[in-house]
Amino acid sequence: MLQLDQIVAGYNKSVALDGVSISIPEGRIVSVVGANGAGKSTIVNTISRLVTTYAGSIRFEGQDITGRKPAQVVELGIVQVPEGRRLFAPLTVEENLRLGFHRLAGKADSQRRYQERLDYVLELFPIMRQRIHQRAGTMSGGEQQMVAISRALMAGPKLLMLDEPSLGLAPMIVDQIFEILAKLRKDGLTILLVEQHADDALQLADYGYIMAVGRVRAEGPGNSLRDNPALHQSYLGKV
Ligand code: ATP
Repeated sequence: MLQLDQIVAGYNKSVALDGVSISIPEGRIVSVVGANGAGKSTIVNTISRLVTTYAGSIRFEGQDITGRKPAQVVELGIVQVPEGRRLFAPLTVEENLRLGFHRLAGKADSQRRYQERLDYVLELFPIMRQRIHQRAGTMSGGEQQMVAISRALMAGPKLLMLDEPSLGLAPMIVDQIFEILAKLRKDGLTILLVEQHADDALQLADYGYIMAVGRVRAEGPGNSLRDNPALHQSYLGKV
């Protein structure tokens, strides 16, 4: 569905990705793991076209999207759950979800589609049903992450990209969120998961990439990367 080919990208002429190639097949979960500063967020922001690309290409469903603008990328169905959630804290849960729907808002039959999307996310996260009128900023970190994922799902994405969804959350909540990602894959969604929690992210993934200092250092089926102690020691900082 999406291919990064030999991407060189960065900030103010400094290079954060140095020839990165990644492939995300339709209906799969691909995880990108690595230590702080490895370039994981830069991959997500490169695909969203928020980061300048110096060389290489990005293809989505057969089209070259390297020159596209961020809004055009969303319009194609590539939607990001950003690091740190970035909810609108003074707005209610429902208002945040409505903002996520804006990609589909002007389209035919939008009221029915809004209700369908809303029913879908409330089924995934039943806890939000009682919280729908609560201000997002007053929710716990785990609840806010659920709202952030739901807001992205309201846009009806083809490719969902999550940047460190586990950040600051208790292990039990992380497990719940990863279970939801597995359910989304079952429903046919394609997912790019960027994570420092390497073990969990690789276990969930169909395919994984290990990054260090702007380059892909290893790739393969998620479980084979997770079960390789040498890779852990070299790139993930533990045995
Ligand atoms: P983390 O988990 O800490 O977010 P990461 O693997 O996602 O790490 P990136 O955020 O992609 O790493 O950062 C890769 C490199 O790019 C780092 O050297 C970082 O300092 C640099 N970088 C990231 N964002 C910016 C920015 N807005 N301006 C300048 N340099 C940046």
